[in-house]
Amino acid sequence: MMTELRKDPVTNRWVIISAGRAKRPSDFSSKPPPRPSGVCPFCPGNEETTPPEVMAYRNDGEPPNTPGWHVRVVANKFPALMGTGDLSRQSEGIYDKMQGVGVHEVIIESPHHDQTLGTMPPQQVEKVLSAFRERILDLKQDPRLQYVLIFKNHGEAAGASLEHPHSQLIATPIIPKRVREEAEGARQYYDAKRRCVYCDIIREELTQTKRVISMNDHFVAMAPFASRFPFETWIVPRTHYAAFEETPTEKYASLARMVQETFQRIERVLSDPPYNVVIHNAPFGEDDRLHYHWRLEITPRLIRLAGFEWGTGFYINPTPPEEAAQHLRDAGASESRPASDPADETSKG
Ligand code: ZN
Ligand code: ZN
Repeated sequence: MMTELRKDPVTNRWVIISAGRAKRPSDFSSKPPPRPSGVCPFCPGNEETTPPEVMAYRNDGEPPNTPGWHVRVVANKFPALMGTGDLSRQSEGIYDKMQGVGVHEVIIESPHHDQTLGTMPPQQVEKVLSAFRERILDLKQDPRLQYVLIFKNHGEAAGASLEHPHSQLIATPIIPKRVREEAEGARQYYDAKRRCVYCDIIREELTQTKRVISMNDHFVAMAPFASRFPFETWIVPRTHYAAFEETPTEKYASLARMVQETFQRIERVLSDPPYNVVIHNAPFGEDDRLHYHWRLEITPRLIRLAGFEWGTGFYINPTPPEEAAQHLRDAGASESRPASDPADETSKG
């Protein structure tokens, strides 16, 4: 299988050319693919149908690649990037390219096929977050890698090909253009004001309150001021941490509760919509520590991107974030804790 990184000479955007996933024109048919029949490769008992475990949380004493795990990480069977090769740039005429060096893994979030981040217990969500952290810390050791993106596709419209709850990570040998732009914007703000722009955003949102969905001691869930998509939601640490994996582990339980509760709200208000989750994280290295501030971003896939968005990078969002936040606030986090409960810290505003 051929994977190659190619650089657009005008925008400096890198593209992964990953042959071997779908090649023939008929593979791109707009008909939905046949539903995979038979075994789910991520369900317990089918461990041999995936590549071997990279890591797992399992009951003591059980051997790898057998049932009994709580969270399981495996290499992606159809990787967009692969771990081997060197990083030398090559030229092809005026163009730059390099080998598709990188890592592509799947984090199987639960042994239960039908769970979601909204229905699994917070303790299970915390294990998933801990697995993210362990994998990032491990991949940071590889000097060829500069960035790791943790993401999740839920529902066919969001790009998921399997139902079983799972996230993915792709570690890349370059800093992706969008990440670089964000880090650069944050740096410029910092250089001008000597403050982290995200810390300022959080302070502003907690003052205005109308886009705040919920908060606890360590995290806030909010609809961003310039939301691109209906019900776009950010979960941000209230204290400054550049990277997800640098957030002290004692705050993970609080983060897990916030994640689980936010997905409950989204599932309730939007009837389990398709969505993408992305953890915006600082690039590896020390350069962005002061001005970058990590966040988890949820974008429900309620509308399709069309020509205008593709042509301009402008987004047309039909739902004001203030209204989205109101709906999600009103939804309450769980039946047993209605939003009107005075003990509920989410009922503000
Ligand atoms: Zn399954
Ligand atoms: Zn900050």
